[in-house]
Amino acid sequence: MNAHVQGCAVSAAKEAAPDPVRRENGQREVFCGLTGIVWLHRKIQDAFFLVVGSRTCAHLIQSAAGVMIFAEPRFATAIMEEKDLAGLTDANDELDRIVTQLIARRPDIRLLFLVGSCPSEVIKLDLSRAALRLSQTFSPGVRILNYSGSGIETTFTQGEDACLASLVPALPPLGTSEDQLLVVGSLADVVEDQFVRMFDALGIGPVQFLPPRNSTSLPAIGPNTKFLLAQPFLADTARALEDCGATRLSAPFPLGVEGTTAWLRAAADAFGVKNATFVSVTQPYRARAVRALARYRDELAGRRVFLFPDSQLEIPLARFLSRELSMNLVEVGTPYLHREHLAEELKLLPIEVALTEGQDVDLQLDRCRAARPDLVVCGLGLANPLEAEGMTTKWSIELVFTPVQGYEQAADLAELFARPLVRRAKLVI
Ligand code: SF4
Repeated sequence: MNAHVQGCAVSAAKEAAPDPVRRENGQREVFCGLTGIVWLHRKIQDAFFLVVGSRTCAHLIQSAAGVMIFAEPRFATAIMEEKDLAGLTDANDELDRIVTQLIARRPDIRLLFLVGSCPSEVIKLDLSRAALRLSQTFSPGVRILNYSGSGIETTFTQGEDACLASLVPALPPLGTSEDQLLVVGSLADVVEDQFVRMFDALGIGPVQFLPPRNSTSLPAIGPNTKFLLAQPFLADTARALEDCGATRLSAPFPLGVEGTTAWLRAAADAFGVKNATFVSVTQPYRARAVRALARYRDELAGRRVFLFPDSQLEIPLARFLSRELSMNLVEVGTPYLHREHLAEELKLLPIEVALTEGQDVDLQLDRCRAARPDLVVCGLGLANPLEAEGMTTKWSIELVFTPVQGYEQAADLAELFARPLVRRAKLVI
């Protein structure tokens, strides 16, 4: 960890990561990767997501999108009927017909993702071949790619990973010998704009983003690309970028003041930014964010929090909750533990933290009930039953929908955890 960081606790990081990690391999309670469409379709403004799935898949994305007030119809489901599943029709012909119809009706679509689901995988519908075939018909006007959002053995944020990984082969080569920074992972536009201003002030730029806001501005990549992950769930995307010669900058994730500072610092160091410049650019933001966090620390300090494995954001969140808000971590579950990508985060967790990778939901619920934490961070499926048992919950999916990265969002992130406790206190009165 970088020793230059000032005004935050990074320099106090331990070298050892918490160990041992409990591993569970039982029943899971998670959404599938189709959920990622809800935020990806807002981010890439000329993209369309066509799920090739069942009525269940259609219901899932419609109800997940219903969480958002301004959802636009840039996703749909090509519903497979029983005769498709029984192999009585040629699903490829049907798919070609639907895509042709869709592109004729929606000339604004420049990038079409065919999104696989459990049913399309069960009947082994080869969407990569379909994407190739359809690309020949519709390129260069429309680029057609595919990825899987299937829920078999996955968790919901893997949908974004699969989507971004499918974009990597379409990225143009970087035509410069100068190092260039690429930020990888969906960020709300407002957060992206803040980071652009910050990188500009540091003298790092132009910075590119994956996913881009528009498919016509795909970032270029090559051996001079240095990339920062903005999200902790992008293992496949990172591997695909590294296969193209890009280098990942190791850093914690930009959640909270400490995470944001260390994340920016990783880029600053890689691009030779002087320490004095770094401090003078970041200090006012840091000071403001620390002040904004103070009132939430008063509310949350000493409260006990239990994080079920769901979004893959759990480890950076646990670091933020324990180090910046003084919350006590009862258990921190994560669906997968990518030790390399999370190395800088793991160093910042309390050494005695109870970490769990994977899930056996019944056992985990037993531990949660026995511990009676003040706050439970979990998926929608567990939240209602736990609330009915008198526990206070926070939906982890909200953390992916809400702008939470960066200095200016640090207090908003804290508020997401304080709000359910305040609500519960009011209900009790
Ligand atoms: S992809 Fe699978 S898990 Fe997801 S909604 Fe469709 S059937 Fe359900």
